[in-house]
Amino acid sequence: MNVSLKVETKPSFCRFCHANCAMLVDVVDGKVAAVRGDPDDPVYQGYTCQKGRQLAEAHNHPTRLLMHQRRTAAGFEPANSEEALSAIAARLRRILDDHGPHSIAVYCGTYAFQNSAGLGAALGFANGVGSRNFYTSVTLDQPAKVYTTMRMGQWGGGVHGFSDAEACIFIGNNPLVSHYAPPGGVPPFSPSRRLRDQLAKGLKLVVIDPRVTDVAKLATLHLQVKPGEDAAVLAAIANVMLQEGLYDKAFCQQFVGDLSAFADAVAPFTPDVAAARAGLSADDIVQAARIFGSVKRGAVSTGTGPEMAGQGNLVAWLVNAINIIGGRVNREGETSPVPRVFTPGAAPRKAEVSPPVRPWGEGFPASRFRGLTQLGFEMPCNVLADEILTPGEGQVKALINFGGNPLVAFPNPEKMARALDSLDLLVSIDIRMSQTARRSHWVLAPSMCLEREDITNLSEWWFEEPYARYAQALVPAPGETLDEYVMLWELCRRMGISMPTAGGNVPMDKVPTKAEFLDLMSATCRVPPSQVKADTPDGRHIFYPEHALTVLPGEPGSETRFDLVPDTLARDLAATLEKGGAGDRDGDYPFRLTSRRSAHVFNSSGHQYAALSKKGTTNFAWMNPADMEALGLADEMAIEIVGKRGALTGLARADPAVRCGVVSMSHAFGDVGQGADDVARIGVITSRLVDETVDYDPITGQSLQSAIPVRIAAA
Ligand code: SF4
Repeated sequence: MNVSLKVETKPSFCRFCHANCAMLVDVVDGKVAAVRGDPDDPVYQGYTCQKGRQLAEAHNHPTRLLMHQRRTAAGFEPANSEEALSAIAARLRRILDDHGPHSIAVYCGTYAFQNSAGLGAALGFANGVGSRNFYTSVTLDQPAKVYTTMRMGQWGGGVHGFSDAEACIFIGNNPLVSHYAPPGGVPPFSPSRRLRDQLAKGLKLVVIDPRVTDVAKLATLHLQVKPGEDAAVLAAIANVMLQEGLYDKAFCQQFVGDLSAFADAVAPFTPDVAAARAGLSADDIVQAARIFGSVKRGAVSTGTGPEMAGQGNLVAWLVNAINIIGGRVNREGETSPVPRVFTPGAAPRKAEVSPPVRPWGEGFPASRFRGLTQLGFEMPCNVLADEILTPGEGQVKALINFGGNPLVAFPNPEKMARALDSLDLLVSIDIRMSQTARRSHWVLAPSMCLEREDITNLSEWWFEEPYARYAQALVPAPGETLDEYVMLWELCRRMGISMPTAGGNVPMDKVPTKAEFLDLMSATCRVPPSQVKADTPDGRHIFYPEHALTVLPGEPGSETRFDLVPDTLARDLAATLEKGGAGDRDGDYPFRLTSRRSAHVFNSSGHQYAALSKKGTTNFAWMNPADMEALGLADEMAIEIVGKRGALTGLARADPAVRCGVVSMSHAFGDVGQGADDVARIGVITSRLVDETVDYDPITGQSLQSAIPVRIAAA
């Protein structure tokens, strides 16, 4: 009998990554059958990427966990929610009673950020426990831009947006592939079209990157810098802007406290000095400064690469400083480009500088290692393995790994494996048996995005208008799968602890609805999630024009100025001159290994899907053909990559877009304990080259994970 099933098409948005692209979803018989971009959404205009287009396969994939998993001596066995949550809560309660609150740690990885309630629920759980050991992937790759620039002060009106930029500088990010940019960079939806449209309108784009990336190919000027020399180039650009008067003198006079100190700090970085270090032409550096400094609108922005390359604080400082001296901020009467409907703290935007703050150090909960403390509300990932492995007061005995894969994402994977294996309790929340999940005592199976409600809070720092969505659950969550906020609420309830949020403790008498939970964690936002839900019964977008923000005048008499040279940054910059260039070839380690994004995977996610795995299952070691010829290497030949802290085997691939002297690899592939024969099948963990106890930033703990000195030979 031929039964034709009814196809229902419903609007939603993708949560494979944080871009939240608007989608139309075909539902057949209670299952996701197909997805495509929603052409009627005015912000996304039908855009999707290859990863998001796999959502139907992802929801129905045979390797997806539909039951929770308990590790036994005979292997993993399925468990229902009652069994799993009761057993985990009882174990956590005993650990809490026996070892105190800091013995329980939470790590929020990539997929904790794809559930709109994820971070709020995880933080509520950790605060309910009272643990200082709360970690997120932010401190793996970009803590400086999030935290350390706060010591300069912040402009109430925000940095210029992208849509009316006349000139931009992108450093070490490839937003066409990563779908990520900080404010001022290309919004991640339809980034290629947006960039091309803006270039057609006259945008001048400077790209600083050791590789001719997709975005570099579109640049007005590409500086193919040696890895690890971004700070020198930025200092020289700032120097030229100041020397040639290509900065906003009136703005600096009113709002910058110490311009001459900044000028002194960057003065030694003449274009010739920076060019020699960075392997560039001095004329190109001057031209970059003139391109950027000769217009009024547009910002400098950076990605994760330069932060991972050993000079994160210097780069974040110089990026911020160039935007400040260029006056690239929204002034009184202008529209602030990021209104943020759901983000808590809906204060008016004012044309003034807020006082510098240092959300780390004295007064913040301290790690037992390396003098590091929390940054804001999170402990640097740098210390997690040592906090687990080292006995004593506060030793971590239990870890909730929420949507992460620390085994392949953290520095020093063999040490992380020892740490994970030594835990009394390791719980992973994951849709599949990842490398970390396989070492866990329990794996909790979460519902997936089209099975749950969510808001666009994670993408709204790219919306230049007050745009919002509240997605409905389109299909039932299968098996025993649960929304992650419910898992964490259930653990709190069963442990007898509270679950604090921005809006107060979550009631524990009955499980809150998603809207109730989102309202609590979004307290003081512009429009409560439940209101957006009520305003959009069709699940489509809504604009709230009444929440468009005009920058208000600063407070009369406000005399706060930007601290343009805070703390030791001038000294740190000077110290880079005394050291040899980071990009210098030396006899023992003549190459620099840099990290890169791959369009078909999202960190360690996506390998299992058919269309994505066809693009490759290994992380090739991309090298310039001239380097390969000099070393006698051929495509797909196994090579040994040896650094000062470790070694790995990779597969060489030629790419003329890679600068000579560079080997370019994606991170978060491979597994601990793999053999050389496994490299073609699963790739290799590049952070085997990293020792987080030696090469790390003293404030953020950021480990050196790019621009790593290595030597290369045929394996
Ligand atoms: S960019 Fe991100 S949100 Fe958009 S379709 Fe791709 S994976 Fe989904």
